Amino acid sequence: MKFSRFKVFFPDSVQEASELLREIGDDAKILAGGQSLLPMMAFRLVKPKALIDITNLGLVGVHVSPDQIDIGGCATHRQIETLQNLPVAFEALRDGMQVLGHVSIRNRGTVGGSLAHSDPSAEWPALALAFDAEIMATNKESSRTVEAKEFSLGWFTSSLEPDEIVTSVLFRKPGELTASSLVEVSRRSGDFALCGAICVLSSQNRSITQTKIVVFGVAETAVRLPVVEQMVIGNAIFDDPVNVSRVARESILEIIGNRSNDEKSGFVSQIAAPDVVNNALRKTIIRLQVEAKRKL
Ligand SMILES: Cc1cc2nc3c(=O)[nH]c(=O)nc-3n(C[C@H](O)[C@H](O)[C@H](O)COP(=O)(O)OP(=O)(O)OC[C@H]3O[C@@H](n4cnc5c(N)ncnc54)[C@H](O)[C@@H]3O)c2cc1C
Repeated sequence: MKFSRFKVFFPDSVQEASELLREIGDDAKILAGGQSLLPMMAFRLVKPKALIDITNLGLVGVHVSPDQIDIGGCATHRQIETLQNLPVAFEALRDGMQVLGHVSIRNRGTVGGSLAHSDPSAEWPALALAFDAEIMATNKESSRTVEAKEFSLGWFTSSLEPDEIVTSVLFRKPGELTASSLVEVSRRSGDFALCGAICVLSSQNRSITQTKIVVFGVAETAVRLPVVEQMVIGNAIFDDPVNVSRVARESILEIIGNRSNDEKSGFVSQIAAPDVVNNALRKTIIRLQVEAKRKL
């Protein structure tokens, strides 16, 4: 199918882009990497009359320090995948980028675009939740920080106001000794995840003191599994990891309720997702052990 007709605007600043969003209203859409928007336009699922291109507004910087990573809204997935100096604590970000679509998609698709799009199977909203990331939303007059847990509200719905643009996202390391990983399962390499899990663990004195376990692809947004997190807190990092599959399954079923009745979501929620959660935990513990030994 062909696109319906539209105009493209090339504003000189985020403020001008925000002003255009206000002036044109519902007929306008921000254009970043175009990897979600353009396919939707080709299928005429959306028919914006104006696209506001924000790719040349200097939002592409990625600033890495040992304790945090500050990512510009238009930084691409590939920029994160190929970072040379990514601290071990943030390895889940690289895990996620290695399985997000194909290289050609990662070369264009942006971090801010993925967050704004809020696909329940996408890696970025889940990563943001797992790290309590701070998302900067900017309009013509000001910027505000939105906590990741307040950002994705539901199925392809974010808490951005109509005139706001995601200009950056800040990931902080939760503890001095931290490791993380993302594990997912998809039908074919490059497909969206059927489901995935992210685990972030911090430890002190060889025992796990903080944890975030997030599952995505099973509900309308990525969700934390607090009961599973509690099972992990206090465990010694060099002991055999506790198997969390059963408790993860119960937690996921509680979250999705009746949605588990159809065959696909039943398989995902009852078999695939709990195992993926358990695998993410095991992978993270191994990374944490290696890091702990390195620091001895
Ligand atoms: C074949 C294929 C496979 C894919 N597989 C995956 C996958 O496995 N995992 C995954 O997460 N994604 C996947 N994607 C989607 C891809 O990651 C997109 O890059 C991403 O979802 C959107 O980013 P974008 O920069 O392309 O945004 P665009 O497509 O340009 O925009 C998407 C939406 O966000 C809005 N928007 C964009 N940027 C901003 C901003 N900074 N502030 C406010 N609003 C904004 C746009 O107006 C639009 O509504 C896939 C895409 C394709 C085509």
